[in-house]
Amino acid sequence: MEPRHKQQEKATWQPDDCPHPCVSLFSFLSKIQTICVHMTILFPSLSSLPLKKLIQPSKSLSVFIHPISTAHAKLSIGSQIMNPTSSSSSTLTYQVPALDSDQMCRVADQTFDRYSSNTVNRKGKGTAIVWFRNDLRILDNEALFKAWASSETVLPVYCVDPRLFGNTYYFGFPKTGALRAQFIIECLADLKKNLMKRGLNLLIRHGKPEEIIPSLVQAFAAHTVYAQKETCSEEVNVERLVNKALLQVKLAPFPEKSTGQCSTNNPKLQLVWGGTMYHMDDLPFSTNTIPDVYTQFRKSVEAKCTIRCCFKIPTSLAPPPSVEDWGCVPSIDQLGLQSQKVNKGMNFLGGESAALCRVFEYFWKKDLLKIYKETRNGMLGPDYSTKFSPWLASGSLSPRFICEEVIRYEKERQANDSTYWVLFELIWRDYFRFLSTKYGNSIFHLGGPRKVERRWSQDQRLFESWRDGCTGYPLIDANMKELFTTGFMSNRGRQIVCSFLVRDMGIDWRMGAEWFETCLLDYDPCSNYGNWTYGAGIGNDPREDRYFSIPKQAQTYDHEGEYVAYWLPQLQKLQKDKRHFPEKSYIEQIVPLKYGNPKKHQSQERAFATRQTKGFDR
Ligand code: FAD
Repeated sequence: MEPRHKQQEKATWQPDDCPHPCVSLFSFLSKIQTICVHMTILFPSLSSLPLKKLIQPSKSLSVFIHPISTAHAKLSIGSQIMNPTSSSSSTLTYQVPALDSDQMCRVADQTFDRYSSNTVNRKGKGTAIVWFRNDLRILDNEALFKAWASSETVLPVYCVDPRLFGNTYYFGFPKTGALRAQFIIECLADLKKNLMKRGLNLLIRHGKPEEIIPSLVQAFAAHTVYAQKETCSEEVNVERLVNKALLQVKLAPFPEKSTGQCSTNNPKLQLVWGGTMYHMDDLPFSTNTIPDVYTQFRKSVEAKCTIRCCFKIPTSLAPPPSVEDWGCVPSIDQLGLQSQKVNKGMNFLGGESAALCRVFEYFWKKDLLKIYKETRNGMLGPDYSTKFSPWLASGSLSPRFICEEVIRYEKERQANDSTYWVLFELIWRDYFRFLSTKYGNSIFHLGGPRKVERRWSQDQRLFESWRDGCTGYPLIDANMKELFTTGFMSNRGRQIVCSFLVRDMGIDWRMGAEWFETCLLDYDPCSNYGNWTYGAGIGNDPREDRYFSIPKQAQTYDHEGEYVAYWLPQLQKLQKDKRHFPEKSYIEQIVPLKYGNPKKHQSQERAFATRQTKGFDR
């Protein structure tokens, strides 16, 4: 196996990075607009008012206030309305999605019904295996569909691969933290349930796929194993090993029903592309010529490709093969991990049914899609962005399904920049996936795809203060505590903590990336290492080299310090304008900021404002 992470390159330090520019008038106007957007969510009756009236409504606001929504309502830039499941302000938890179990069943069943078909022909013979990997769903699952269509009976299998619960490559953190493990357990339980509803089941085995799959092929005389293709070396290596082991399997000759003659069957591994919104085969470039600049990639695929339709689910997937013991969904202990409860922040529920409900909740129930672009940079609560990423990463949600839902929303409700922007972000996800096929293991290397030489530190004390949320910078500490407590962090937060680790602390970016790998519910190698290499300034696009100034980010995205006070309750008693720089009321700052103290910062911001990186359209 080619090691994913090759050895460290020699490097020199480049001190001068450009701070994130201040956004001045545009920023001010967009804040006003954001406030108005938040007001329309809080007070739906305001949504019909034009922007000017929202800024200065003629009636007193209290006229519009709903007594329940006021209890927890928060109104600030970058924050969102909360829908808490517990009430003390510093210990609120938010179930994501926030539907009760009856509603969940109803929404999931209705969605499955819309995507079911009993008219698809099944002409196949014998047994096919579908090997589930990061595609834990039945809706729009090409591997499942092909296995069903090419057989008389399908054996669905999931292998609990011990390598996924080992350690990260360089720094030895747990490869899968307890929260993501729990999320995957929930995905498996839901997948099993949904397969059973359609007359099948899920065989769960503990061990390496290259050992389990061939022995099942032999035992069930399966002619084909269908699975979703992955792109990074560890996953691709498992595919190779399974393929190699299948070559050793000798099946008894298979009698052809029509002719009565016997034919020899060599079992095959059929890998299907399935994790992205655009299909790999539809791209207007070869792997080696995928553009290095996101905008070029996006414009090209938007102009030249169409997004394929979702695969339907056959109404019945029966009959199941005869299996004595289908195995159980593993418990967290069986994975060698200790259960970790989410007692604050967002608590995500794993599984395809929950994923479909989150789409329903965000698009249709709360009607938040139409304001996504204005709210997506928030940090607090479940509603500032879609929160689809954990389900996308485990494959319990199809990006093509999201796209079809966006189009349906645009037809039935409205189309605007926000509705498009969700697709725009999903293209980023596609882009990182496709780039991983172009750049291979270099996305894991210290110098990244461009082999940039820089001097990095691995100072343990600094790294641990970042990891544990004890840097003395509330914005960093709050985000890191959220990550550890919930397995999630906003996109804004991820960019800020990455910039701080890499640029203010000068720490080896791979330490940060591996800690994210441990903790994130939505961890996927392409998006994680793709974004980290960008954030560290060593990505494939040299223009993506940005410093995120903490004072500036705090001012813009957590103006009143609500986010930091939520995660660091000791700041709640402070005046709002002191929460980001509490001085003696908080722990000491572990390093100075690269661009000086917050008071001096304003003039630096002005000085750097004109040096904005061009061509970045996020
Ligand atoms: P939304 O804003 O609602 O966006 C919708 C979807 O678009 C997301 O679910 C996601 O699939 C996709 N998307 C949005 N932004 C990005 C992006 N920058 N890169 C790739 N896809 C994007 N995302 C992961 O899914 N897995 C990771 O391991 C991961 N690691 C990251 C590490 C760093 C340092 C940074 C800066 C970003 C990382 N991201 C990662 C991207 C992004 O932060 C998350 O996808 C996003 O915050 C998820 O929240 P959401 O679903 O509410 O996103």
